[in-house]
Parts: sequence; C-alpha cells; structure tokens
Amino acid sequence: MITPCLSIDLGAIEHNAQAIVRLFAEHGIAVSGVTKGACGDPEIAKAMLRGGIETLADSRLENIAQLRDGGIDVPLTLLRLPALSNIAEVVARTNASLNSEIDVVAALSDEAERCGVVHDVVLMVELGDLREGICPNDLMPFVDRMLDLPGVRLAGLGTNLACLAGVVPSPDNMTQLVVLAEEIESKFGLELELISGMNSSGLELLAAGGMPARVNHARIGEAILLGCETTHRRPWPGTRQDTFLLYAEILECKRKPSHPLGERAEDAFGQRPPFDNRGERVRALLNVGREDVDIGSLTPLDPGIAIVGASSGYLVADVTEATDAAAVGDVLTFRLGYGALLAAMTSTYVKKRFCKGHKSRAAEV
Ligand SMILES: *Cc1c(COP(=O)(O)O)cnc(C)c1O
Repeated sequence: MITPCLSIDLGAIEHNAQAIVRLFAEHGIAVSGVTKGACGDPEIAKAMLRGGIETLADSRLENIAQLRDGGIDVPLTLLRLPALSNIAEVVARTNASLNSEIDVVAALSDEAERCGVVHDVVLMVELGDLREGICPNDLMPFVDRMLDLPGVRLAGLGTNLACLAGVVPSPDNMTQLVVLAEEIESKFGLELELISGMNSSGLELLAAGGMPARVNHARIGEAILLGCETTHRRPWPGTRQDTFLLYAEILECKRKPSHPLGERAEDAFGQRPPFDNRGERVRALLNVGREDVDIGSLTPLDPGIAIVGASSGYLVADVTEATDAAAVGDVLTFRLGYGALLAAMTSTYVKKRFCKGHKSRAAEV
C-alpha cells in the first residue's frame, strides 16, 4: 500500500445517502447531497446518486467543474455565495446558487440574460448563526428589487445554521424561515419552490418532529459522508461511520521520554503545547502531518494508541499500549472527523483509494 492513504468505502456512502434520503422523504423533504467535504469527487457523488440523491451542491466552482467532467449530469447548486469577480463561471457551470447580495444577483441576471438562460437563486436569510444571509428586516425590499431582474428566478428561501457559531435549528428559527417565505409569497403573489431549512445539524429536530411542514429542502453533506448529525456529532441511527479511513505508515518507532528535554520555546506552528511526564513511552513517527489532516479530528482505530502531536509532515503517536506491537513499516489506521476529512481529501500527498463494502476493508485493517 502506498501511504498515507485515504480509503473510501463507496458502499457505505451509498448506504448513508439512502438512509438520509428515506428519513427526509418521510417528512416531505428533498435532499441535495453536499460534496464539498469530499472535494467534489465524482465517484463519491455517484455513490450519493446511487443512494437516491437527485441533486448535488458544492461550495467550490472547481469541485462543480470536476463533477461535470466526471460525468455527473444532475442539477448542481453553488452553495457558497458567488464572487462578483466570477459571475460568468457561476452561470456557465451551475443551475442555481445561494445568494445574499443584490449587486451579485443583478450581475448573475445580466450574465444569464447574455447567455440566454435563467439562473435560479435561493436567497439566504440570517437567522442567528451570523455567517451568510440577508437580515429578516431587509428581505422584502431585496425581493422587490430582485423580481425586476429578468435573468434570475427566485427559486426559494434558505438559511444556514450551526456552521460558524453552532446555533442549533429550532422550531423557532425554522418557523421564522417559513413565516418569511409565506410573507414573500403573499406580498409578491408567487410560490417559492424551495424552503431550504437545513444542513446535517437539522437531523435531531427533524426526527423529533419539530420541523415545520413547509420546510421541503435540505442540503446534507456530513450526515452522508460521516454518518453523524452535527450539533453533538452523534452517530446517526441507520447510518455507517466507517465511510473513510486514513492509513499512515510508521517511519520510526522508539522508546523515548514523554517530556521534552531542555529549554522550550515555540513549536513549528508557534504554539507551546503542554506535555505530561509519563516516563519513557514507545513513540511511533508516522508519515502524515498537518499538511494532510486536521490532527484534532483524527482518531486512532486502536483505542490503545494516542496522538501526541504533529508537525507539517509527521504525526507522533504513543503506541506503548497498542493492541498489536507497533514496528517500523507497520500501517496505523485512523477514523476522520469533518476537519480531517476535508484536509485529507484536499491534500495531494494523501492517496485516495476506493473500496466497496466493509468486508474487503476489514481484511486490510
Ligand atoms: C456546507 C454546507 C452545507 C452542508 O452542511 P453539512 O453539515 O455538511 O450537512 C449546507 N449548506 C451550506 C450553505 C453549506 O455551506
């Protein structure tokens, strides 16, 4: 095996997509599969589509281009607000985008008219997480101006929570979204196709029956990719968490003191991390580092192994209590949280390998 390597179980991702699509369908909600956590990988997108997902969304135009080049022909939405400097590409490559600035929507309209198409716009409303969105008081004048723009269609209203500030979806904020949508509908005499209330942070509210009936669309990434909801990162019932595993190889394995020797100043990243003195420990030096993963959201599969720290190209693990004695050339296995997954998918140094089904992978572990 070439290491470091990210092993991707497409069967597990398909299974998760199916479980999520079914759950949301029971509540009358369509799901767009969000591929940004997987860098718009077409194979992963295809696994989502096999699981019953019918539309996809990504935050990066590069990823959207990759999806199209990989043969994906379902509708694609740009999840990140379009940049004014990049409007032509947004219109050329996507069917729809999320928006919150009237100048950007006007530029999208001009470009769409020039191309002879209509670009769908979902307006994002600020409901407390304080990332993207139009403040509720500014929404009606915004819509009023937007409806004069012939190149865009107001496809719906959305909000995003739990990303920047961890604000949890609630009956209150979801009802606020629905009330604003219905106010637009009655004031301007139109019907909004999408009321897009949720990302993976909405699963608990949905399952508890607290989602207002008018919410009919969700944008779901992490629950499919990693099998968890995202307010407490609880594994979601009926989904699999063994979708991605990271393999790294031991380059050095030696018994060393656990506490650094000599005067200490900053480490490679300007930090001064604390070290407990636990006497001599067996330390494994692995060929993966901060350039490849987010160390904080990486977990060794073997509970006897602990991560000590990492620099750009090395990860140090305490393998004193590893289930199997570790040696140079051995490969250690890690589960990934969202940050680690994003980084590993992005790192060109981490090889990607697809596998189907848990069995073949269990054998490799
Ligand atoms: C990333 C993102 C999502 C998907 O979030 P998950 O927690 O991965 O489900 C949904 N909507 C927007 C606007 C996003 O940026």
